[in-house]
Amino acid sequence: MAKLIDGKKLSEEILSSVAVDVKKLNEKGISVSLAVIIVGDNPASRTYVNNKKRACEKVGILSHEFALPEDTTQQELMRLIDELNARSDINGILCQLPLPKHLDEEPVIETILTQKDVDAFHPSNVGHIMIGDFKFLACTPAGIMEMLKSEGIDVCGKHCVVVGRSNIVGKPMAMLLLKANGTVTICHSKTKNLQEITKQADILVVAVGKPKMIKGNMVKQGAVVIDAGINRDENNRLCGDVDFAQVEPKASKITPVPGGVGPTTIAMLLRNTVTAAIIQNNL
Ligand code: NDP
Repeated sequence: MAKLIDGKKLSEEILSSVAVDVKKLNEKGISVSLAVIIVGDNPASRTYVNNKKRACEKVGILSHEFALPEDTTQQELMRLIDELNARSDINGILCQLPLPKHLDEEPVIETILTQKDVDAFHPSNVGHIMIGDFKFLACTPAGIMEMLKSEGIDVCGKHCVVVGRSNIVGKPMAMLLLKANGTVTICHSKTKNLQEITKQADILVVAVGKPKMIKGNMVKQGAVVIDAGINRDENNRLCGDVDFAQVEPKASKITPVPGGVGPTTIAMLLRNTVTAAIIQNNL
């Protein structure tokens, strides 16, 4: 039976340390604040935004929500970001993705000032992650690295297989595992013989967005399995990309969904927001 990696508990530990740092900044007369932009009324995005706002409250970070209507134009959205870039009372800016289909995400991401880009999606911040010299780390992969560390899992020399190559999870995840001296294989929708590759993984990280697609016969006995997926199953219950019932008996350690990767992602976002405040105040 696998040991469950408790993302909720870890996120509470990270949030406590973030709260201490926010308090220290407040004592110097510096407040820490995050602007959260949401466009339209995607229910999943609304839930994520609410969770982020609640977490901000917990640690003393001021959150400012900018809820824009579904029919917001590209220009209007960019104008708002320009305004937030210029505001000295805003340390971090995040624009909840995905945006409605008529909006182009890339220019939006590129408009956010790099020192306020607490999601680390800006190409400049992505590049810094690539060369291993970064101020902000992409939140989901950063949370996963914290999990591995807190579980005492040494990545060095391990075969790490990342399934999914998105800019926000798969690719930065692979970079962080590589920086930690893992031997990294990245898989995607065109990968042939996925099962042969996932079965070689000492550490398997899955970020695909397909409910329960990783089955028991795709995992090596004793592997560490990290499931970033957030999906709904046939009964509309939250589930990951990993078929937990099948994989859990084979894994040595595994993250649950919910309560695994999700909470640590938010904790790392708030850690990045504190880093942003520190940088902007030249501390
Ligand atoms: P994307 O849709 O951007 O990327 C999915 C990736 O999976 C792509 O690289 C795609 O390949 C690959 N893929 C699709 N089908 C297969 C397949 N059959 N075999 C192998 N690879 C496949 O998703 P995200 O990375 O944004 O998100 C992935 C999951 O993680 C989602 O469930 C999302 O909700 C969740 N998520 C969770 C977060 C958290 O906080 N826990 C944060 C962000 C995301 P290709 O590139 O070839 O199309």
